[in-house]
Amino acid sequence: MENGSMKVLLGVDDLPKTYYNIQPDLPVPLPPPLNPATREPIGPEALAPIFPKEIIRQEVSQNRTEPIPEELREAYLRLGRPTPLYRATRLEKLLDTPARIYYKREDLNPVGSHKPNTAIAQAFFAMREGVERLTTETGAGQWGSALAYSTNYFGLKCTVFMVRVSYDQKPYRKHLMHLFGAEVFPSPSDRTTYGRKLLKNNGHNPGSLGIAISEALEAAVTGTGTKYSLGSVLNHVLMHQTVIGQETLKQLEMIDETPDVMVGSVGGGSNFAGFTFPAIGERLKGKLDTRFVAVEPESIPSLTKGVYDYDFGDTAETTPLLKMYTLGHAFVPPSIHAGGLRYHGAAPLVSLLLHQGIIEARAFNQLSTFEAGEIFTRTEGIVPAPETCHAIKGAIELALEAKDRNEPMVIAFNFSGHGLLDLEGYAQYMAGSLGET
Ligand SMILES: *Cc1c(COP(=O)(O)O)cnc(C)c1O
Repeated sequence: MENGSMKVLLGVDDLPKTYYNIQPDLPVPLPPPLNPATREPIGPEALAPIFPKEIIRQEVSQNRTEPIPEELREAYLRLGRPTPLYRATRLEKLLDTPARIYYKREDLNPVGSHKPNTAIAQAFFAMREGVERLTTETGAGQWGSALAYSTNYFGLKCTVFMVRVSYDQKPYRKHLMHLFGAEVFPSPSDRTTYGRKLLKNNGHNPGSLGIAISEALEAAVTGTGTKYSLGSVLNHVLMHQTVIGQETLKQLEMIDETPDVMVGSVGGGSNFAGFTFPAIGERLKGKLDTRFVAVEPESIPSLTKGVYDYDFGDTAETTPLLKMYTLGHAFVPPSIHAGGLRYHGAAPLVSLLLHQGIIEARAFNQLSTFEAGEIFTRTEGIVPAPETCHAIKGAIELALEAKDRNEPMVIAFNFSGHGLLDLEGYAQYMAGSLGET
């Protein structure tokens, strides 16, 4: 094998000039979000107090492509894009599989995950229309640190409501957000009416993502020059992430490979969508016959065991109803280490494609994903985020199936982030104290 197919690099000029919007290529139209009171479709104007105008336009856009302005492309270059594609030859050897396994490196940027791909775009479009501050929620802090990096880059202020338990137990990403100039409050906080109400009932409320979303929304609606930013689930977020998949297709083409199967982890669905949608678009046009496998935790099985129905996006019932695979918005996800996968639903676009049979879903228990992470660390030498371990576990399983059939299958997965700030989870795994959920 030539070195050129072990590590496939793109040049500065190969950075995509547009995002890919899958909406016009869908086999059926995406069911619209509904007003929970009337169950009527909500118009884009209902979102105006919350999101910047351009973000709302992108959310409902039916254009196949949306331009990435030059100033934003420069920001992507500084963020380490285009990112390399590696072939996992050392993993292939250990598995003794005829499959060829490739992975796209979304960990190689200042915060270590794919999340800046949309954070930087959202900060740019907000800055361009004069927004002064973005608010958001974060669990373990991957999304908060991506937005803190991005708001700092484009000169905006940033307020992050961080789930109380994570704020206390996982301080490193909080320090990172502070270093980028963001203000970070443990949620529930005394900064919002909702937070104060919860704290009055229970001064030691551990918080949840649902509560933090409600506080961030309240802070956006009540603050001047302030808008809200979401890190997954919505159409515009998934569209921003398609820089990943566009680059990947180009890289595979450069080495004359066609992916037989593409794999990604799913929390809200943004890295999976960003990685696969450009190829799904080709498949819908009949140009590829790739399979697409979404991997989720067995303990939060929205895609494999949820229902496809309208549900709230948050726990506090403040958002419009979204048609998606869901476990119900009252579902309390167990506190697995893959914090980024602790969501009761999944993106409406990803859900629709699953419902249409265009993608597949698989679920694995926590222990088996950490085993996969350890195998990957010892073969490829990179410590994966616990979320990313799910994609790796999926890829390993497919590679072993290929071995059973003696089939030289081409598997590509998205390496969504590194696990260097998640070593506590690995410590528990190595000490044998990690549960299956
Ligand atoms: C947040 C996160 C995920 C899950 O979020 P999606 O929106 O489903 O992509 C996966 N991997 C990493 C490293 C994350 O930080």
